[in-house]
Amino acid sequence: MKILNNKLSKTLSSESISFVSTPNKGGEIIPDSIIIHFTAGRSAESSVEWFKNPEAKASAHLVIDRDGKVIQMVEFNHKAWHAGVSRWSDRSGFNNFSIGIELDNPGRLTKVNDRFYSWFKKEYPKDVVVEARHKHEQEISYWHNFTDRQIESCFNVCKLLMENYNIQEVLGHEDIAPFRKNDPGPAFPMESFRAKLFGREDDTADVYKVTANQVNLRTGAGTEFQIIDKLQSDTKVEFVKSKSGWFYVYVLSKNIDGEPLYGWINGSLLRKA
Ligand SMILES: [Zn+2]
Repeated sequence: MKILNNKLSKTLSSESISFVSTPNKGGEIIPDSIIIHFTAGRSAESSVEWFKNPEAKASAHLVIDRDGKVIQMVEFNHKAWHAGVSRWSDRSGFNNFSIGIELDNPGRLTKVNDRFYSWFKKEYPKDVVVEARHKHEQEISYWHNFTDRQIESCFNVCKLLMENYNIQEVLGHEDIAPFRKNDPGPAFPMESFRAKLFGREDDTADVYKVTANQVNLRTGAGTEFQIIDKLQSDTKVEFVKSKSGWFYVYVLSKNIDGEPLYGWINGSLLRKA
């Protein structure tokens, strides 16, 4: 697999790559981030059909099937409509600088009398069900798994994109649109995926826990800044950046009026989760 004129192309005849065009796209972009999604759909084919439909007003650069097959729909230097209203750290409007990868997966499943159903009422066997807690939620719930071939294919594509574009970050849709989106969810191994991609040794390097009660979350890196919220011991936060002993973090499992909660915490009040 290689990238030629902003499109994937085969280097081996055994690779399964195709291009299906869509009108759901915008002007040129310079991608610097990758956003991982699940389709919440019935199949890769049905998701591709939907992304071709002008009424969908949605698309992605790539759709990856459960067998690892890759379908590209938008050139990597053009805007796809996958992120919606989005924000991470101090950036917003991710469609303007990110590549969207959709993994075929029905998403969250509902358990009824020991059987598992998607939102579109299809039943799935127990062996595809992952029982896990979403990082934005308190309770454990049920999620459809991703296949190894699908994750491997996604990894190979991300690696190739990093070689061809100045990719700085790989995030989930749930990171840039928390409380509105829950994909790719806990069945996707995001921490180890990113660690492997960026060559980080510690695959949980990004998550910290608050070590005391009533810890101040502030608008800036210093005690002179305004307090946004107070966090309890063991609250998990995701590291975004640091400045003179203070950490700018994203608070997991907590929001204010549906808005993601970001702020500065003194580094001495955090430890690796
Ligand atoms: Zn999404």
